[in-house]
Amino acid sequence: MRAFIVDDDQAVAGIATELLKSSGIESEVVDLNSNILDQLRAGTFDVVLMDIMMPNIDGLELCRQIKSDPTFGALKVVIVSGKAYEFDKRRAKQVGADGYITKPLNPMTFALDIRAIVESAFNVTYWGVRGTLPVPGPKSLRYGGNTSCVTMSFPNDRTLIFDAGSGIKALSDSIMKERGGKLSAHLFISHPHWDHINAFPFFAPFFVPGNKFEVIGAKHGDRTMEDLISAQMDDVFFPILVTDMGASITFRDAGEETITIDGDIVVETMLLSHPGNCLGYRVNFGGKSVCYVTDNELYTEDSGFQNKAYEAKLIEFVKGTDVLITDTTYFDDEYVTKIHWGHSPIGRVVEIAAAAEVKSLHLFHHDPDQTDVDIDRKLEFARDMMSALKAETRVEAPQEGSSYSPWPKPWLFSLDRGHLHR
Ligand SMILES: [Zn+2]
Ligand SMILES: [Zn+2]
Repeated sequence: MRAFIVDDDQAVAGIATELLKSSGIESEVVDLNSNILDQLRAGTFDVVLMDIMMPNIDGLELCRQIKSDPTFGALKVVIVSGKAYEFDKRRAKQVGADGYITKPLNPMTFALDIRAIVESAFNVTYWGVRGTLPVPGPKSLRYGGNTSCVTMSFPNDRTLIFDAGSGIKALSDSIMKERGGKLSAHLFISHPHWDHINAFPFFAPFFVPGNKFEVIGAKHGDRTMEDLISAQMDDVFFPILVTDMGASITFRDAGEETITIDGDIVVETMLLSHPGNCLGYRVNFGGKSVCYVTDNELYTEDSGFQNKAYEAKLIEFVKGTDVLITDTTYFDDEYVTKIHWGHSPIGRVVEIAAAAEVKSLHLFHHDPDQTDVDIDRKLEFARDMMSALKAETRVEAPQEGSSYSPWPKPWLFSLDRGHLHR
């Protein structure tokens, strides 16, 4: 990938060059004394990083010219500016910019954001991977002890959050620190069991005026998503009502349907095998997809409750997906005493993932009694079984704080201590 940097500030151009280089992106800095479009035509670039406040040059007008000239083909333009006004972001979008990044450049995310925009990619980040109950302490240091919370981030600063288990506190801290609390997002709730909603009131961006959220999930009978979330904050249970949180929070009751966000993020839903209404989500974007399917019970044949029609529907739902994040709560031998608890034994999950030709299977919603070493063992079991089935599905057990991108090639990195560990 090659980038062309249009910025009159040599220091910023130098930092951008270094950050891109560390991520394998070559770049060239503009010569402001000669015609910029000619320089662009003379090289082969995938992306232009464009400042908008430069002497004698209007970055947005340049963007408009590039975007209206078919000889530039698929060349992307990303506005990189110190101006954080919504007005400027809207104008950038109107003249065809593919993305907008505000200065100062964030060294942790800058190159990733550029890649994401150029490749229409999205990242998945894990904030809590446990099921049922948070388990802090020495036995959960590596995989983390928080309950379900996952985010998917898309180009142009769009975020989907999945579940509000205790992991959402770390997400909250990150947003308060990195973005001063500013965030608008969609929050998809799988179902209202405690481990998926009970840190909802502790998500600080909900208290920031100007933020906008839509909370989406399945209703239960006549109890809407709003009732279900509000109930846990009602009266004696929590001192602040959901209606008094400061941000604009709206609710949407979803069934089995397709939800389209901004025209290009397509979320399909499916009711899962779990007590009450529990929705699984398949997120499709830019030719890639990630499925978030928890909590879900895949019965063994021995249990006498295996439902082949349901499994066929699930296989169709997750078919060929790039990443399947799914409930692998139990070892096969543990499951024998946990039938009808609503969670799957690992062996059944591996079978389904292989049959659906899933590209990467991510083990998720671990039993609170399992230690890090147990999860290692579960991962090893799943990998062995997958290769015995001669399936090509990669198996991972993501740790809390790690991110994953299904595009262009899968790689995992961890955000801890401010470094990217590939
Ligand atoms: Zn759960
Ligand atoms: Zn549940």
